[in-house]
Amino acid sequence: MKPTIVFATANENKVSEVRRLLEGRFEVKSLVDIGCLEDIPETAHTLEGNAKQKADYVKEKYGFDCFADDTGLEVQALNGAPGVFTARFGGPQKDAMQNMNHLLSELHSAGAEESMDRQAQFKTAIHLIVGGEEIALEGICKGEIAQERSGTEGFGYDPIFIPEGETRTFSEMNADEKNAISHRGKAIRKMTERLGV
Ligand code: IMP
Repeated sequence: MKPTIVFATANENKVSEVRRLLEGRFEVKSLVDIGCLEDIPETAHTLEGNAKQKADYVKEKYGFDCFADDTGLEVQALNGAPGVFTARFGGPQKDAMQNMNHLLSELHSAGAEESMDRQAQFKTAIHLIVGGEEIALEGICKGEIAQERSGTEGFGYDPIFIPEGETRTFSEMNADEKNAISHRGKAIRKMTERLGV
């Protein structure tokens, strides 16, 4: 029988990406599946700290082996912003369209119009708690911010992120293509290596 692991997120897009990556190896339960419907605090100042805060919460309150992730988009021309503020860069509503519009306008204000000035990376920090052991992992995907949105797949900033070596945004790729090169895909593969599954 496959072991069960809880992915401490309420973001269904992330759950389905990770289910695909762990298919046949883990039964991945979401927060909704375990009846955790409250907002888990994310008040740390780093991606790693937020991931640990979410995983600790689920372990302490619900008792499951689990992992949590926190992702930030780091844009070179903006000195690494939005980073830990990625989810609410365009305002407190955490709206993807507002976030993207704000980022595009910040890059315009910074005069970053050429491709080489629009370099960016997604960074995912994962905090895993399994069998009493705690492991921190990360995955990075380098790329650049597109001039405008394109594509319909994915979520968040996917329509304006072009991974290195590609001409398409994440939103113009299917789920398997994105998972093969993405920040979260890399971090989850490191996690399965560490777990030996
Ligand atoms: P969180 O770690 O899920 O809170 O993500 C922080 C922010 O990054 C949110 O605005 C997400 O929409 C965005 N984000 C996280 N992962 C991805 C991704 O794979 N593609 C695009 N945006 C993402």
